[in-house]
Amino acid sequence: MNIDELKKSIIEDVENQSRSLKEITRKIHSNPELGFHEEQASELLTDYLKGNDFTVELGICRLPTAFKAVYGKGKPEIAILAEYDALPEIGHACGHNIIATSAVGAGVAARLAVDEYGGSVLVIGTPAEELYGGKIVMAERNAFNNLDAAMMVHPGTTDTATTEALACHSLDVEFIGKSTHAAASPEEGINALEALLLSFMGINSLRQHIRSTARIHGVVTNGGEAANIVPAYSSGNFIVRAADNVYLEELEERVLDCFRGAAKATGAEMKYKWDDVCYSPMRNNLTLAGLFAANMKILGRNTSISEPERSFGSTDMGNVSQIVPAIHGIVSIADKNVLVHSPEFADAAISDRGIEGMIDGAKAMAMTVADILSNSDIQTAIKEEFYGSP
Ligand SMILES: [Zn+2]
Ligand SMILES: [Zn+2]
Repeated sequence: MNIDELKKSIIEDVENQSRSLKEITRKIHSNPELGFHEEQASELLTDYLKGNDFTVELGICRLPTAFKAVYGKGKPEIAILAEYDALPEIGHACGHNIIATSAVGAGVAARLAVDEYGGSVLVIGTPAEELYGGKIVMAERNAFNNLDAAMMVHPGTTDTATTEALACHSLDVEFIGKSTHAAASPEEGINALEALLLSFMGINSLRQHIRSTARIHGVVTNGGEAANIVPAYSSGNFIVRAADNVYLEELEERVLDCFRGAAKATGAEMKYKWDDVCYSPMRNNLTLAGLFAANMKILGRNTSISEPERSFGSTDMGNVSQIVPAIHGIVSIADKNVLVHSPEFADAAISDRGIEGMIDGAKAMAMTVADILSNSDIQTAIKEEFYGSP
């Protein structure tokens, strides 16, 4: 069968799956589970994959809701990644139910390509994207080693083959001062809140002179107890983001200097702790992106390679993209004015348009797997872009 015929069969295959996929996506959407607690979602997804001849391992990387499902044998190994965690309070306002079902739909349809050309397709279930960066933990535990390519689609408001995502690291800061009566004996006190406020001023000054793609933002998590007590304790949480890991490290040091300076000025003691997980920027494999965009066009979605408007979040897919050639495509399910992480986006994630996006995402990814498995030149191009030419 030539590749065009095979793609037609893939499209048909996803159509045939659509009833089941819709049902699974509805169930996940109506029972939003938070990061690392996606018991129902991981079970629904792995059951579906098992029922479609995948060999499934649930609970990989010592994470009960992470899974790996394999169809086929040997190289090339192409992975499709699923997310299925929800957000506190607003449920599936990031539409991860769509990511999950487009991934399993794509995996099942990609069996046709594996049967025709050899190699294997994997569906890897990656929990807790939102709150804990589950893929970062999984990457540290070698879940993505030896893959030849990895892909996923995220719902959004454009059809795009790549995603801009910043490196991102958060830290907790505490200041320890000395309390005293704010009016009777202020000269005896050390004001921990002032240290935190000074830190914000330092960061605001710094912000004028950093690269336009970098971001620093923070909140006060503890600012004292009463106005007539000099605060002996204050704390805050901050996030530093940059376009690459090198600049991120540089900025981390400069942000710390703002806290150090404030500690010096006020006499408060400063303690800090960087979060264990650090998000890497997204490294988009443009060879993969080109294939994905072309397949989306076949499905009638005019898909651009790069985002028409910059949107700078961070995603744990960035860390995967540093290890293996990867794309994080966006499939449009709502109008531009609908914001991700809003209740309106949660509605979109289960609307007819959301379902269409899920189906098209599944088709385009399975077709992209077929492109890769069918053509060793493509495999080489993906590799050379990632590792450099030999
Ligand atoms: Zn999100
Ligand atoms: Zn998301």
